[in-house]
Amino acid sequence: MAEPVLPSEPFLPYGRQTIEDDDIAAVSAALRDDFLTTGPRVEAFEQAFAQAVGAPHAVACANGTAALHLAMLGLGVGEGEVCVVPSTTFLATANCVRYVGAEVVFADVDPQSGLMRPSDLAEALARAAGRRVAAVLPVHLRGDVVDLPAIARLAEAAGAVVVEDACHALGSEHLGSVQSGEGRARPVGCGELSAAATFSFHPVKTIATGEGGMITTADPELAERMRRFRSHGMVRPEGGEPWWYEMAEPGFNYRLPDVLCALGQSQLAKLPRFAARRRALAARYAEQLSALAPQVVPAASPQGSRPVPHLMSVLIDFDALGLTRHAVVEALKAKGIGSQVHYIPVHSQPYYRERYGDQRLPGAEAWYARTLSLPLYPAMADNDVDRVVDALKAALQTA
Ligand SMILES: *Cc1c(COP(=O)(O)O)cnc(C)c1O
Repeated sequence: MAEPVLPSEPFLPYGRQTIEDDDIAAVSAALRDDFLTTGPRVEAFEQAFAQAVGAPHAVACANGTAALHLAMLGLGVGEGEVCVVPSTTFLATANCVRYVGAEVVFADVDPQSGLMRPSDLAEALARAAGRRVAAVLPVHLRGDVVDLPAIARLAEAAGAVVVEDACHALGSEHLGSVQSGEGRARPVGCGELSAAATFSFHPVKTIATGEGGMITTADPELAERMRRFRSHGMVRPEGGEPWWYEMAEPGFNYRLPDVLCALGQSQLAKLPRFAARRRALAARYAEQLSALAPQVVPAASPQGSRPVPHLMSVLIDFDALGLTRHAVVEALKAKGIGSQVHYIPVHSQPYYRERYGDQRLPGAEAWYARTLSLPLYPAMADNDVDRVVDALKAALQTA
């Protein structure tokens, strides 16, 4: 007789959005309004976002990649210049530099945290010697925050501005010790230690609009230039005819529609709850994973970082365990558990190898060899964490 088919447990992806009834109501209301795009909900979302991260200005845009591109355009980065980008990041952090015709100098990262350290930046700046360094783009990987005060000092000494890729780090804080406010907690993106910070609202990120992005800055002129580049480079001079517009420099259509701004603002109001839930789940993971140390350890959190965890990245010593990552990923998948790798070092991508030759960045390569991101999102139950850790234990024993 055939065994009864038990309902399988729901699949746990490595990340997913949390959309609730009031989010849907907010979108419905926006759909009934006059403006589907370029309406008042854009500024409303921008203002709410600026307030949430303590920044003077926020500019909404189509996605996190557009946010990075707009930052480069607004800062006037271009040909004949270089920018420093950590190799452990998503492609877009490096690609935005190429969009404006500048070249990328890849920095190494800490193999335990995956983040660019001040020493990694100093080493990359030494390699860039003789070229004009326009910007440094630190990445707050999985929500952990780089040592921004030290990175900002090094960038300034090199004549470069800092653009934070904060796509993982909405709600995170750094407890940095900078000039005036020793030990004061600052939200990522507040604009005090960088020229600009970029955010993404892709479904796996901390708040979701499907596609969506934001740039924050303390510089009103930079905000104005980014707004111009966001919409074709058009300006409507004051006192001009009602139909009149002018374009001094071509821009893009990188606008975020009102419908998605409504969703973004509804999601943003939940940030404290989402953050608390992510922290609680990450703490439960850390506690349960301690049984698997030292072969499996959570990614290290740098000093001064107070993250809202975006990814639950662990480091697995596959060699010591005599396993491949492929086998572990497949064993988890067979039990309905998703996982992902963040990230393949960008300097090893064919495009960048072709452009800059083969480079060795041992920290980024060591991080890549061991990292795996386990499911983490606010709608997970406590016992989902237990289920993932049990499945990982079994995978490590039998894979
Ligand atoms: C998601 C992400 C981006 C790009 O954001 P999109 O909204 O997907 O364009 C850039 N950098 C990092 C680190 C990201 O995680």
